[in-house]
Amino acid sequence: MIEEKGILFILSGPSGVGKGTVRRELFDKANDLKYSISMTTRERRPGETDGVDYFYKTKEEFEEMIEQKQLLEYAQFVNNYYGTPREYVEDTLAAGLDVFLEIEVQGALQVKENFPEGVFIFLFPPSLEELKNRIVNRGTETQELVLQRLREARKEIEMMDAYDYVVVNDDVNAAVTKIQSIIQSEHCKRERIAKQYKQLLEDEMS
Ligand code: 5GP
Repeated sequence: MIEEKGILFILSGPSGVGKGTVRRELFDKANDLKYSISMTTRERRPGETDGVDYFYKTKEEFEEMIEQKQLLEYAQFVNNYYGTPREYVEDTLAAGLDVFLEIEVQGALQVKENFPEGVFIFLFPPSLEELKNRIVNRGTETQELVLQRLREARKEIEMMDAYDYVVVNDDVNAAVTKIQSIIQSEHCKRERIAKQYKQLLEDEMS
């Protein structure tokens, strides 16, 4: 069997579109994917666990990680930092395992620069009205934060062009099934298979 690097999947899309829910549901079903747990400076929400949902950091700790180039990407979102640990992603891919990121769009664009071979999936809201309801109904944020998140969402939707796939999140299970199909299809891509076979033939010849 030929050693293959894992595939990097990036799920992104507007705030409130349901990325977190879709990702959690996907991970309940998919056991051959590795989720990259992000770093953040935002407050822990009730029910969240350090090292499971995020690694919670102070602003100083986060800025130190930026300085040390320990983040594959990072973004400031609603006055907090969010970032992806570089080493975890690179090591896991090198070990032949697929890595899954669930991040906002600024970060996804940075990943695209470093990992153009990544598979970029844009989770799309069924409608803007629906998106607004979800952000408002989450109820964990103040009015001002809700407005900020809505403004971000509008800007984020305009960034769809950079993505390989668009999945409309009108139903969580349907969205998860589509993402699973994307993952399967990517593993069947001719370029990936052809690369493996070429190497096999080269090894045979030598
Ligand atoms: P929340 O505060 O609701 O958990 O997340 C806010 C936004 O930050 C979401 O859109 C989420 O996908 C995004 N996010 C989570 N982790 C990361 C990360 O490591 N990098 C970036 N750029 N965004 C992230």
